[in-house]
Amino acid sequence: MAKTIEVGGVATVIKQANFGQGGQGQVHLVHLKSDPDKKMALKELRGSTRALARTKYLCQRNLSALSPAFAGPIVCEDVGNGRILHLAPFAEGGDLDDYPPRALPQNLEICLEFVSLIQLLEENGIVHGDLGTGNIRIAPDGTVTLIDFDGYLADDPTIPPPDTIGQFPMLAPEQRDGTHEQPTRESGYFAMAVFMSTVATGRYPTEGLADEPTDVVHYMSQGHWPEHDRISDVDDLPIAALGQELVDLFDLAFSLNPQARPSPDVWRRALVRALQNCWVHDCGQCFVAASSMQACPGCGAQITIPGTRGQLKIQLLPTGPRYGLELKDRVAIVLGRSTIPGLPPTVSSRHLEILPFGGKFLLRHVGRNPTLIRQRGQWYRLQESWLDADDLNSGIDLQLADLMLSLISG
Ligand SMILES: [Zn+2]
Repeated sequence: MAKTIEVGGVATVIKQANFGQGGQGQVHLVHLKSDPDKKMALKELRGSTRALARTKYLCQRNLSALSPAFAGPIVCEDVGNGRILHLAPFAEGGDLDDYPPRALPQNLEICLEFVSLIQLLEENGIVHGDLGTGNIRIAPDGTVTLIDFDGYLADDPTIPPPDTIGQFPMLAPEQRDGTHEQPTRESGYFAMAVFMSTVATGRYPTEGLADEPTDVVHYMSQGHWPEHDRISDVDDLPIAALGQELVDLFDLAFSLNPQARPSPDVWRRALVRALQNCWVHDCGQCFVAASSMQACPGCGAQITIPGTRGQLKIQLLPTGPRYGLELKDRVAIVLGRSTIPGLPPTVSSRHLEILPFGGKFLLRHVGRNPTLIRQRGQWYRLQESWLDADDLNSGIDLQLADLMLSLISG
């Protein structure tokens, strides 16, 4: 028979004991006795007056009411024998590397959601204190959830600080050299950047650069983003693809001066701008464009990024990434798997050609499965069709095999 455990008056039934090993205690997956569909995480902490005061405070703050993305504890109980139990909502999702690689705009969206959560926490007087890839859960659709708040810092002076310093891969230089081991808001900014660097590039900042812990410490403590020191491999994301603004923020975030590290608000604004300027080049390289850019960060070919006007954009529907495309008169743009990352296999590598020609566009189907175009509310099979630039002002919906997208100018 399933074991029932009561925490602070809430009855739960164990679904899976020892579900995961948290840094500070054992975690069981349970469900509410009154609602078997409601999954919760039951955690056992080592008891102390200090741990109990901290856990009670966290339960009172009820972070999960602030946002469902905060899986913080809701009730807790000192059960004696040096044990405290607390109950938190269960977070779906996995680690970063549990899913196949995502396209750059999707990774930037994960970063944006993540920093927005850190900002919301901070505005409510809480610093997570123990950010690490295991404590940041990512669902298949990219939804981010923060778990394990046991190492939090509060801006309430009556709350004792945590007795943990965080996880080795995420520690700031001042924690590594012992000048300030205790986590701070600014060491959290460092950890935040380590996580986003890993999301954006698909690798830990020193992966392939350093293996020995002393070498990792060296590269993480130089005062600049370790990605600059890497001899890049053809499969690596060239960091220039993130755009100069984000590269500069990563350098500041790895600063030895904690006060120089960008806040979540600064990151959030830069990420919003980056997401509005994602481009994809003929070679399939996606990048954050700036008008100063003269070469594709992927293949090095010369490119011209137009100003705010005269751009052609594709939006993958319903809520996929939006990319800008370079428009050159009489040079065909190819849409397909060879030029846009992450498209389904039903789309051919070259599926649709768009030829800008004297202010008009010639659309030509070249793929295996059909291309459909919506005009005046009706879907038509497209072989070849001319569009005026005006037609694109309000967007033209296309369907490449089973992929819906919208073509927009301006
Ligand atoms: Zn290129």
